[in-house]
Amino acid sequence: MQEITGSILTKTRPLMLSDVTIRLGSRMLLAVSAKVMPGEVLTIMGPSGSGKSTLLAFAGGFLDRAFEVSGRLLIGTKDLTETPANQRHAGILFQDPLLFPHLSVGGNVAFAIPPAVKGGKARRALAEAALKEVGLGGFFDRDPDTLSGGQKARVALQRVLVSAPEFLLLDEPFSKLDAPLRRQMRELVFSKAKAAGLPTILVTHDGADAQAAGGRVIEIGIEEKA
Ligand code: ADP
Ligand code: MG
Repeated sequence: MQEITGSILTKTRPLMLSDVTIRLGSRMLLAVSAKVMPGEVLTIMGPSGSGKSTLLAFAGGFLDRAFEVSGRLLIGTKDLTETPANQRHAGILFQDPLLFPHLSVGGNVAFAIPPAVKGGKARRALAEAALKEVGLGGFFDRDPDTLSGGQKARVALQRVLVSAPEFLLLDEPFSKLDAPLRRQMRELVFSKAKAAGLPTILVTHDGADAQAAGGRVIEIGIEEKA
């Protein structure tokens, strides 16, 4: 099946964390250098408080000023380090699906479709197809509150994918799902990231997430407790 969410994707390029270091006061949180190829998932593993969300905030462009950063973030040859968050074309999934409660399920997805897709009908059709792709055909007009956790997670995934991101940032997006759902969502997210050719960074404290991602694993924050 030609995936509808793939049809509005632009070309994909490698994502590069070039000599990134992040400090908090006198504490060196992390130092990471990595090139993530299109369709590759890089996992950053570390315990709670090690700086995983901080690294994704750096990559997403919303890092708190409390942190001191050096290094660059590049997509292809384009330097994004100083680019505002809303111009980075990052697709981000957090632990919580964070659906807008005042919009319908379909409204949540349609909202994320780039403005280049014109016309209410076309936008609705694209959102409907994206929902159908993950087994939520006919859910367009539902209130997000009426969905199960797994259904919400799938809506959040499709909302990110229709936004035509250039790369994905995953902040422990499976950690709140129970075991069978977690396995399904991992498979779904990783297969879609690969199908769309997106360079992806997953941060997690869960070794099973890293294993399922099937790519390189970089550990951070392991020397801290000494
Ligand atoms: P993780 O996601 O690995 O659990 P975080 O990246 O959230 O860890 O946090 C790393 C460290 O930075 C922690 O010690 C945390 O308390 C601290 N921290 C997080 N956000 C801020 C902030 N806005 N200002 C100051 N310190 C912060
Ligand atoms: Mg975190």
